[in-house]
Amino acid sequence: MRKILIVGAGQSGLQLALALQSQGYEITLMSNRTADEIRSGRVMSTQCMFHTALQHERDQQLGFWESQAPKIEGLGVSVAGPESQRVIDWVGKLDGYAQSVDQRVKMAGWMETFAQRGGQLVIHGAAVSDLDYFSRTYDLVMVSAGKGELVSMFGRDAARSPYDTPQRALAVSYVHGLGPRPEHPEYDAVRCNLVPGVGELFVMPTLTTSGRADILFWEGIPGGPLDVFKGVKDPAEHLALTLELMERFTPWEYARATKVELTDAGGTLAGRYAPTVRNPIGRLPGGGLVLGVADVVVANDPITGQGSNSASKCAASYLSSIVEQGDRPFDEAWMQATFDRYWDTAQHVTKWTNAMLGVPPEHVLNLIGAAGELPPIAHRFANGFNDPSDFENFFYDPEKANAYVAEVAGTGAAGA
Ligand SMILES: Cc1cc2nc3c(=O)[nH]c(=O)nc-3n(C[C@H](O)[C@H](O)[C@H](O)COP(=O)(O)OP(=O)(O)OC[C@H]3O[C@@H](n4cnc5c(N)ncnc54)[C@H](O)[C@@H]3O)c2cc1C
Repeated sequence: MRKILIVGAGQSGLQLALALQSQGYEITLMSNRTADEIRSGRVMSTQCMFHTALQHERDQQLGFWESQAPKIEGLGVSVAGPESQRVIDWVGKLDGYAQSVDQRVKMAGWMETFAQRGGQLVIHGAAVSDLDYFSRTYDLVMVSAGKGELVSMFGRDAARSPYDTPQRALAVSYVHGLGPRPEHPEYDAVRCNLVPGVGELFVMPTLTTSGRADILFWEGIPGGPLDVFKGVKDPAEHLALTLELMERFTPWEYARATKVELTDAGGTLAGRYAPTVRNPIGRLPGGGLVLGVADVVVANDPITGQGSNSASKCAASYLSSIVEQGDRPFDEAWMQATFDRYWDTAQHVTKWTNAMLGVPPEHVLNLIGAAGELPPIAHRFANGFNDPSDFENFFYDPEKANAYVAEVAGTGAAGA
């Protein structure tokens, strides 16, 4: 059977490794950390995944935590006014629920499953020189090492990467003890709180190493009042800062958070990165080729919560391309075609995410405002997180956006 090396055991690498393994491929998975190190380490993401991405996991019988993880049935948007009051506030129901399973739980669990099923797991932080050697002994080498150093093998695609610096400073806290949400206590939702000119606060439930928890996630415009987490090493100080900023900018979320405590010492994360699309094929010094996967080739800012979704979609797309190739070589043309097929969907995620990082134009503000009065708009916007290609139809172009709002208003759908 064909031999494949996968470097990096995150969402995309593990999903691909387990799926290919179950189809009889001989898979070696290289991870720079053991399952125990991942499980007892620091949180890595908020990893909210929507229906299509979760379905790819289910298709491979990998939804191990589905019954334990909170079901996220809605997506809400609030916009803060100048007095930190809510000037916009709505929630759209998701057609299929979303879920967040702490990557520490999921990646550690999947990695152990891969090894138990007889997979070759190598604990080693791969360097370019290692890949040079391995590219001669495997039929295919894929690099799914996220935003780590190996990305340097893949050239930046400037035409597809409008930003060359980070657009948000990120600060995550996993907490227990968040109070119930008064607006819709009967179901869980991911809430996006937009603070114009300052940044965004995302709040969502998750399944972490100690059971159900909630995540408080600030995205701050660099240099602004939320960009204060750099150099904060003490998790308690990180949480205190998070809460202070919530009290100041999003008091309605703070009201639920007065009794929270961190889930564990690894329950905080701060950082930033520039959203970047890269050329999918890495050329090794010895002439071998490697194929980049998920964040290695398309890394978007988490403002739209798409990276894990995209990693799942990328793994599913690459899986089809690999299987369809049969015994033919995984050559340069195949690698490019494999990426292009994934880019068909990924391009919509990148376009929408980069748009959300900018100052929203008037027609977008109108659209978000109208969603508060017209539930079909809230519903469509919320479900765009599952399939961002739909934003092409009503989001970017002022004429299309205004016509869409007028159409929904004209149908008398306000109370629908
Ligand atoms: C703060 C934050 C919040 C986010 N929130 C969301 C969200 O709500 N929804 C969503 O969909 N996405 C979200 N994302 C994005 C999402 O987490 C990533 O896009 C996703 O995990 C990418 O998956 P991946 O498989 O490409 O890489 P990763 O999940 O990053 O996995 C890469 C793995 O490779 C390993 N590795 C690195 N270098 C090497 C090496 N040299 N050798 C061996 N192994 C190596 C790493 O340790 C890691 O285990 C968020 C990201 C951040 C930072």
